[in-house]
Amino acid sequence: MNHPNKSEEMTASVLPMEKKQECSQRAECMKMIQLVLDGEGTPEQIERVSQNIGKCLPCEKGYALEKNIKEALQLRLEKKSVPASLLDSIRSRVSSIKLFG
Ligand SMILES: [Zn+2]
Repeated sequence: MNHPNKSEEMTASVLPMEKKQECSQRAECMKMIQLVLDGEGTPEQIERVSQNIGKCLPCEKGYALEKNIKEALQLRLEKKSVPASLLDSIRSRVSSIKLFG
C-alpha cells in the first residue's frame, strides 16, 4: 500500500504554518508594498500585501521599513525635525535588510 494522500498535501501548501524566511518574489512584493504605502495600490494589491505580510518575513520587514522611511520623509516635508535616533535606526535597518538582498 503506497498511495500519497493528495488532499493532505494540498491543505499543507495552502495553509503554511510558518512565515517564509525568504521571499522568492521580493522585487514584486516590494513594488506592491510601496504602491500601497503611497496610497496608490488597488484594493487587490492592498489585499495581497496584507496577506503577504502575514506569511512572508522579508516582506513584513520591508513593509515596516518602508513605512518608517515614509513617515520620516513626511516629517521632513512638514518641516518638523526628524529625531536623529529615528534616522539612525532607519539607516541601520536599511543596511541590515540589504544583507538579505
Ligand atoms: Zn514576499
